Amino acid sequence: MAISEKSMKILWALSGGCCAICRTTLVVPREVELDDHSVIGEMAHIYPQSPGGPRGNVPFTGNRDHHSNLVLLCGNHHKVVDDQENGWPVERMKKLKADHETWVAETLTRRPLRVTVDPSGPDPKKEKFYMINSGAELWNLISDA
Ligand SMILES: [Zn+2]
Repeated sequence: MAISEKSMKILWALSGGCCAICRTTLVVPREVELDDHSVIGEMAHIYPQSPGGPRGNVPFTGNRDHHSNLVLLCGNHHKVVDDQENGWPVERMKKLKADHETWVAETLTRRPLRVTVDPSGPDPKKEKFYMINSGAELWNLISDA
C-alpha cells in the first residue's frame, strides 16, 4: 500500500510544512524562475512501512501508510530516526509527532498581543496606537523611528 494523497495533505498541513525535529521549512524556494521549488520533506513511518523496517519489532496491525503513523521530517532527520531506531523507538516517535502537531496548531492560532491602555498614561484619544500582527509590521514601524 502507498501513502494516499489525502494522508500526505493532512500530514503536511498538521506539521506546518516543517520538520518535527529541527523545524526547518521543507520547501526550499526556487532561485530562478526557470526552476521549481524543492521539496526536502520526507514522511517517516512510526511503525515501519514493512515489518522488516526500523521499529519493526513492535507489533502493529493498522494502516501503516495512514497519516496517524507518519511524522514529517527533513531528509537528515528521517535518516537519523531510521538509522538509530533504538534511540527513536515507537513511543518517542509518537511523542515527537504529537508535540510537533500541537506546537503547529498553537502557533497558527496564537492571537496577536493585546494592547491595553494605562489609565495613568497619556490620553489615548490623543495618542496613536498600532496593532502589530507580524514581525514585518514591527520592522516597518521601527525602521521609521
Ligand atoms: Zn530536521
